[in-house]
Amino acid sequence: MGLLSHGSPLSWEETKKHADHVRQHGITQFLNIYNKVKERQKDVLKWGDEVEYMLVAFDHENQKVRLVLKGEEMLDTLQGRGEKINPNHPTLWRPEYGSYMIEGTPGQPYGGTMAEFNTVEDNMRKRRQEASSLLLDNVSICTITSFPRLGCPGFTLPEFPPTPVEQGASKSLFFPDEAINKHPRFSTLTRNIRHRRGEKVAINVPIFKDRNTPTPFIERFANDPGAEAKAALPDHIYMDAMGFGMGNCCLQVTFQACSISEARYLYDQLATICPIVMALSAAAPFYRGYVSDIDCRWGVISASVDDRTKEERGLEPLKNNKYLISKSRYDSIDSYLSTCGEKYNDIDLTIDKDIYSQLTREGIDHLLAQHIAHLFIRDPLTLFEEKIHLDDANESDHFENIQSTNWQTMRFKPPPPNSDIGWRVEFRPMEVQLTDFENSAYVVFVVLLTRVILSYKLDFLIPLSKVDENMKVAQKRDAVRQGMFYFKKDISKAGNVAVDGCCTAANGTEAETEEYTLMSIDTIINGKDGVFPGLLPILNSYLENMEVDVDTRCTILNYLKLIKKRASGELMTAARWLREFVACHGDYKQDSVITDKINYDLLVRCNQIANEQVSCPELLGFSTRIKQSGNKNTPL
Ligand code: GLU
Ligand code: MG
Repeated sequence: MGLLSHGSPLSWEETKKHADHVRQHGITQFLNIYNKVKERQKDVLKWGDEVEYMLVAFDHENQKVRLVLKGEEMLDTLQGRGEKINPNHPTLWRPEYGSYMIEGTPGQPYGGTMAEFNTVEDNMRKRRQEASSLLLDNVSICTITSFPRLGCPGFTLPEFPPTPVEQGASKSLFFPDEAINKHPRFSTLTRNIRHRRGEKVAINVPIFKDRNTPTPFIERFANDPGAEAKAALPDHIYMDAMGFGMGNCCLQVTFQACSISEARYLYDQLATICPIVMALSAAAPFYRGYVSDIDCRWGVISASVDDRTKEERGLEPLKNNKYLISKSRYDSIDSYLSTCGEKYNDIDLTIDKDIYSQLTREGIDHLLAQHIAHLFIRDPLTLFEEKIHLDDANESDHFENIQSTNWQTMRFKPPPPNSDIGWRVEFRPMEVQLTDFENSAYVVFVVLLTRVILSYKLDFLIPLSKVDENMKVAQKRDAVRQGMFYFKKDISKAGNVAVDGCCTAANGTEAETEEYTLMSIDTIINGKDGVFPGLLPILNSYLENMEVDVDTRCTILNYLKLIKKRASGELMTAARWLREFVACHGDYKQDSVITDKINYDLLVRCNQIANEQVSCPELLGFSTRIKQSGNKNTPL
């Protein structure tokens, strides 16, 4: 989850005093990097995935599952046995927000060859095995997006009470500080977000109204010091800590482009794909022990790190703050970066005008300058005493400080100083799937899509405000089958493409409304005669023209079949499958409550599926190999 510095974290009051210093030097650091590497060309296409995991303990005797607070310890051991003794170790491990979380990536980025698609799943398996080998028999490493009973009494092992009144990072009624990773970055972020905002974060997720769910649904909180009654909305599941959001897991992919302009082009094109793939990957229907009416984590995390003051949120007139800010730091992107995106930039963009002028004075073009000046309206949230004065020519911590706490659907990443890494973009909306097979399928789908975008010079751009509307639809329950999404009708730029992948002015500004229309995910992914060709048919024809060995082709086609069937609704999303499991559970009282026993049975099943001990055709088709029978992948 970003930059980890060591040292003594400053309080919010102290950090605030240095905010302008961090911004000024962050900009200098950005300019230094930009000037050194702006002309860099011909970096090769490389990419890598990031998978986030939770540690889950099964208490079979009491039929209860809990999150194990051992992420830090495990990270030390995994790194000690891996990257620290062998620079070519196949996996890399990183801390994540929850003390029950850990993140794994491949040891080296993947390159541009097709054959590498055939190694993705093996690498993910290796990670699962490596981590599992450190765990006791009753503990598993699970790729679940949200833990259904996160924040319910006794959800951690060891158990800790929340501390709403005492001094603490979250002051949550539900989420104990011990569940936050012990690295000071994480608790400092938590505390400083709360202090900057001037109150606890407030997350309200609509509850799923089942037959016996009380109407209105209003909770009374024991231990309530008063404010909750106001913050908790009726008919909503109320949560009050960063952990409810950043304590969720996701699946991300980062690409290195061959030049800055290719990175900007990919950033824009993929931004339009974010809501589509998020809906396709939906895996997070349950929060704090209740069934919700949403399928994705996105809005929950967004609210969980919303550090804006009342003034910035427009609830009070601006007095002590500079800007009215329309979104949380964790949200969708606000501007396209490539020249062909410019005409679709229709969202009001709040920027730091001084930074914008400085950047343009120094030769940065308008689109990139406004992007950076927009990220830099935010304050730094953490600062370490030892890291205030830096060498701007060779370090980038102040730039990264602001950059890495702008958690947007896409991230545009300049190369680190003095490295041979190129310009990169990160694709961040996907929810993590239960199995390595599914995670590989989603990752390979997105990577192949980038190849196709670049090879065929595709253009998905629509007004960014429409992408934002899509983001809202994407999180709704069953969006994959019921949602309608704005999508471009003609994605072949047919001749309007300049060498750098951006369109020329040939189609001007005429008739924008005609360019896009509402489509279902099925139409977007699988195509519909006379309406849209479909992304998968395009990928398939690309694959037909590529030289690929038989085994790799078979693997890729199997992945694409999963995507195809998820998009058509023939296979369930994880969110739908999780909902159906709960709905059919014998103990479920149609009251939207997920009891300890339901949670236990659910997680046992998820873990069996992930470890290939049982099949789950509703979710996976017949693609999974089951260990006992030793079957290799068979086509779906
Ligand atoms: N866990 C966060 C999510 O689900 C992402 C944290 C990160 O940026 O690594 O989106
Ligand atoms: Mg992460």
